[in-house]
Amino acid sequence: MNKAVQVGVIQDSCFFEHKIEKSSKECPERLRKLYHDIEQDPRLAGLIRFPVQAVSDEQIFRVHSEHYLKQVLAHAVKPDPYSYDVDTYLTPESPYIARLAAGGCLALADAVLSREVDTGFALVRPPGHHAEIGRGMGFCIFNNIALTAQHLIDRHGLSRILIIDFDVHHGNGTQDIFFQTDKVLTLSIHQNNIFPFSGQATEIGQGEGRGYNINIPVPAQFGDAEYSCLFGTIVQNVIENYLPQAILVSAGYDAHAEDPISQTCLSTEGYYAMTRALQYFASNSDSRLLFVLEGGYEINSLSAAACATLRALGEPPAAQGFLHAPRVIQLIKREWPHELIQKWGLNTAIF
Ligand code: ZN
Repeated sequence: MNKAVQVGVIQDSCFFEHKIEKSSKECPERLRKLYHDIEQDPRLAGLIRFPVQAVSDEQIFRVHSEHYLKQVLAHAVKPDPYSYDVDTYLTPESPYIARLAAGGCLALADAVLSREVDTGFALVRPPGHHAEIGRGMGFCIFNNIALTAQHLIDRHGLSRILIIDFDVHHGNGTQDIFFQTDKVLTLSIHQNNIFPFSGQATEIGQGEGRGYNINIPVPAQFGDAEYSCLFGTIVQNVIENYLPQAILVSAGYDAHAEDPISQTCLSTEGYYAMTRALQYFASNSDSRLLFVLEGGYEINSLSAAACATLRALGEPPAAQGFLHAPRVIQLIKREWPHELIQKWGLNTAIF
């Protein structure tokens, strides 16, 4: 019998305290529903919870500018919660809750790196992947996954970290922060021509980071088969050639077919399959694996797909098959930069 996989989570009611009177899509109910469903699912009874702690100013400044933190603190106490940005509300509580969200990710990363648990999923909010060095946007205050990657470099001495972002929106903040380094390879799969309107395939990084920023913008209607094909043709190759010491996943559930914010068509089973694939890639390359929650705004599909991710993480890694999707082959032939093919290769066995 296989030994049970130990899955750590960050699950804390403190994250309900970032909220406003007027409704926002990025609301406490997203996590309330997910936490409730986790408690109801006997297959998730073995999750191991870790306490949250706030990130310090010094940790924030490893990723964000001092000017930006000053702006966040100043706007948080203004009467209008939208004084900073049209989406990213800031209340007096918000900066501290955002510090706890990032700090929760760091605590779980420590547990995963020290092998206290095999893998983990930080179920936190506000999300982070749109927050750039000097600017918050798209509901994101501090870039949780970037702070985690930087922590793995600073505290654990890692030098090859892969961030995979399958939120339906481009992870522009994470790209901005790591655009000029090869210590963090960022790979974002997102719907093209929607918020934040960045993330072209031609944005491949700069200086030492050239070739270490990978964008895969996909058209509306891409679903399970297309994502599976992308994992088999591109993601697997990148991992086999980069050999990351840690794989961090910006797990957004807004690419789900039920989510009103996008037109991509992933199913709950599709999210399960992506998790199984990433878990297998990680075990194959002896890499640590950590998921961090980003978007997902239809609370039922968010909860169902995040629970499917947790179930997948709790199963022993096993080889996965990938689907053939003609639209992916066309997309790669039409748009995939030659420089990235040369650097990372392309698995054409699936073509
Ligand atoms: Zn999103």
